[in-house]
Amino acid sequence: MKHTPGADTEFRIHVRDLVHRPGTHREYSRELTVAEALGTDVIGVPAGAAATLNVQCEVVTDGIWVSGTFAAQATGECGRCLDEVKLDLEVPVQGLFLYPDAPREDGDDSDDVFEFDGESIDFEGVVRDAVVTSLPFTPLCDPDCPGLCDQCGARLANDPDHAHEILDPRWSALESVKDSIELSNKEES
Ligand SMILES: [Zn+2]
Ligand SMILES: [Zn+2]
Repeated sequence: MKHTPGADTEFRIHVRDLVHRPGTHREYSRELTVAEALGTDVIGVPAGAAATLNVQCEVVTDGIWVSGTFAAQATGECGRCLDEVKLDLEVPVQGLFLYPDAPREDGDDSDDVFEFDGESIDFEGVVRDAVVTSLPFTPLCDPDCPGLCDQCGARLANDPDHAHEILDPRWSALESVKDSIELSNKEES
């Protein structure tokens, strides 16, 4: 069981008028600005990004069941060519928020069960977990991204015919012999 901290954030929705009214439903839709980045080291929703939280609250006997979606754009780096990757996310969020005085059951330690103070629900933790789980381990700018040239680091998607002339060391040895012959010829004339 996780306890939702008391600090007021943009992810916090006041539900006091729903509390202890089983059977009541309410939908909340909120446009917000993400204060603290959500995601992993390689990709995530950056701080300052615009996001939308749509949730439906259903009052049950011991608390409030919440389900909905969180939508935002994640940005990161392509795992092959290091180009910027933008990903439009719409991740499902859900959880059961129990009243502080609700009886505890064995199953309440699951990841979807939280506790709240009976006044307001903070969705940040639920949203953070949902975003992290939905993000790819290796973001790609394109599923077929060819990556970088292993010789010079050029981005191959920009230059599909990119190639390096492979010089045979024996030819370069001959070239230098030829140069010295030409040089001595010039000196003789
Ligand atoms: Zn790429
Ligand atoms: Zn190259």
